[in-house]
Amino acid sequence: MGFSTDCIHAGNAPDPTTGAVSVPIYQTSTYVQEALGKHKGYEYARTQNPTRKALEENLTVLEKGAGARAFASGMAAITAVSTFVKAGEHVVCSNMTYGGTYRYYTKILARYGVTFSFVDTSDIETVRKAFQPSTRLLHLESPTNPTMQICDIAALSQIAHAHEGGALVVVDNTFASPFFQKPLTLGADIVVHSTTKFLNGHSDSVGGIAVAKSAEHVEWLSFVQNSSGAILSPFDSWLVLRGIKTLAARMERHESNGRAIAAHLAGHPKIHKVNYPGLPDHPQHALAKRQMTGFGALISFELGSYEKAAAFLAKVRLCSLGESLGGVETLISHPATMTHASIPEDERNRLGVTPGLVRISVGIEDVEDLIADLDGALES
Ligand code: PLP
Repeated sequence: MGFSTDCIHAGNAPDPTTGAVSVPIYQTSTYVQEALGKHKGYEYARTQNPTRKALEENLTVLEKGAGARAFASGMAAITAVSTFVKAGEHVVCSNMTYGGTYRYYTKILARYGVTFSFVDTSDIETVRKAFQPSTRLLHLESPTNPTMQICDIAALSQIAHAHEGGALVVVDNTFASPFFQKPLTLGADIVVHSTTKFLNGHSDSVGGIAVAKSAEHVEWLSFVQNSSGAILSPFDSWLVLRGIKTLAARMERHESNGRAIAAHLAGHPKIHKVNYPGLPDHPQHALAKRQMTGFGALISFELGSYEKAAAFLAKVRLCSLGESLGGVETLISHPATMTHASIPEDERNRLGVTPGLVRISVGIEDVEDLIADLDGALES
């Protein structure tokens, strides 16, 4: 089936009891068993839940995996995937990874004897050199937040798989969504998402999912999901399932708005630089064109100083100042003091997260209204 059809139908079979077209929210903690060892495949809701299962089946199809497991947040999904690594092993990770991932890796997992190298994953040779004999996991994000770097998932997967002992390739696909990028088809082993973002799409649920290409990895993720228990609730599973029904339509609109705004900002005299993979001057524009089917709706741009960024952010009216991304409403943020505040200032500047950088997650409002809002704030 085509992607839009799968968004609506995969995992979403009509309810066998009533024929309801919307998968019911199975708000139950346990299930009655007919006799000892005789049940309908559901024993206890941490282990199995039909609403969560429907979402897991849906994303298995959309990401072209062998199976998926849903978690209470994107970070819970990343935590579950990190259990593929053991004490004494090493992880190579993008130096522009989501701050929460960096915090979890360096402040928590590092306490258990796992070591890390954070490198520029847009440079293939840098990644190759970062591999150590004990490297067992390569964690990628593409595009990255907030500078929108792209990494070559196929080439990096080859390096990881050719490494002696083999390393798993995990791609955080939150920014692109499976509508624009399918990492498992490019060679990655596992995809993770914060479903909080484009998948749910309406800024009303926090969740995460891990989709694996091999049945063996799905089995381990099931074991971890049940053992550590950070499951996605039935209601959140339903919200994400409902959000995904319109994923294709939303992503098309997010992107056409994103392209128009990026082009407009790139031509604006008050803006020094625009980071958007769809612009021809983006350093990995050709790779993005090859690897993705669209460029998405995340843009960052440089206003030159903290004062100018603060003045601009105080003036926008339609764009809401806030963390997060991927909702139908346009969100605007200041990475240096919000999402990336925990990174030391020197390092932030080196990575391009400067005091004058503003990030925008373009929503699906009328693009003329968004441009008028941005122009008005820039003017003042
Ligand atoms: N990955 C990326 C790229 C994110 O942007 C985020 C959150 O902003 C996460 C993971 C973590 O997701 P959550 O906030 O759902 O735990």
